[in-house]
Amino acid sequence: MAILLDGNAMAAELMAGLKQRVTALKCRGISVGLAVILVGDDPASQIYVRSKSKACEKLGIQSETFQLPERTSQTELEALIQSLNQDKHIDGILVQLPLPDHLDEAAALRKISPKKDVDGFHIENAGKLFTGQEGVTACTPKGILYMLKAAGIPLEGKEAVVIGRSNIVGKPTAMLLMKENCTVTICHSHTVDLAAHTCRADILVTAVGKAGFVTADMVKPGAAVIDVGINRIENKVVGDVDFDAVEQVAGYISPVPGGVGKMTISMLMENTVEAAERKAR
Ligand code: NAD
Repeated sequence: MAILLDGNAMAAELMAGLKQRVTALKCRGISVGLAVILVGDDPASQIYVRSKSKACEKLGIQSETFQLPERTSQTELEALIQSLNQDKHIDGILVQLPLPDHLDEAAALRKISPKKDVDGFHIENAGKLFTGQEGVTACTPKGILYMLKAAGIPLEGKEAVVIGRSNIVGKPTAMLLMKENCTVTICHSHTVDLAAHTCRADILVTAVGKAGFVTADMVKPGAAVIDVGINRIENKVVGDVDFDAVEQVAGYISPVPGGVGKMTISMLMENTVEAAERKAR
């Protein structure tokens, strides 16, 4: 039976440490501020934004949500970002994705000051990760690496397979695993014989968005399986992994909910606190 990678417990520990760092900044008269921009009224995005502002509240970070109407223009969105770039009370700016179709996501993200880009999606931060330079790392991939390391899972020289090649999860996760000296394979929707790859994986990360996608016969016995997927089935949230069957084969497994999602929010908080600490220096 696999060991559970408990995102709730890991996040609680991380948040306790972050709270101390926020308090230490406050003692020096420095407040920490996060601005969240939400365009339109996508229900899932609203839930994510609420959980981010709740996490801020727990830590004593000032969070401000800018709820813009669906019809917001690119110019209006970018003007708000520019004004937040100039705002001394704001350390982190987050544009909740996805944006409505008429808006240019990449162009909007480029407008965020790389120093305030707490999501790590700005092209400068993505480029730094790609070229092995110090920058802001995207929250979900950073959380995945935190989980693996906190559980003491060996990475050096191991076979890692990442399913999914998005800019926000798949690609940066592969980069971070490579930095830890894993041998990394990225699989995607055009991969031929996916199971042939996944069955070799000591570390298997799945970020696809399809419930029940990773089955027990796709998993190497003893592997660490990290489930990033968030899928809503009726009123339940599940990951990409057939959890009950895979936990019989894997060595480690992260659940959904209570796994990577919790780590993502904690890493967003960490990136925000780090931005404030950098400013304070
Ligand atoms: P995306 O839609 O951008 O990417 C999905 C990827 O899956 C693509 O790269 C695609 O090539 C791959 N894919 C699709 N069908 C496949 C198949 N049959 N075989 C192999 N690969 C296939 O999604 P994303 O933004 O990377 O998110 C992926 C999932 O992770 C979603 O469920 C999303 O909700 C979730 N997510 C969770 C968190 C978190 O904090 N837990 C954060 C971000 C995203």
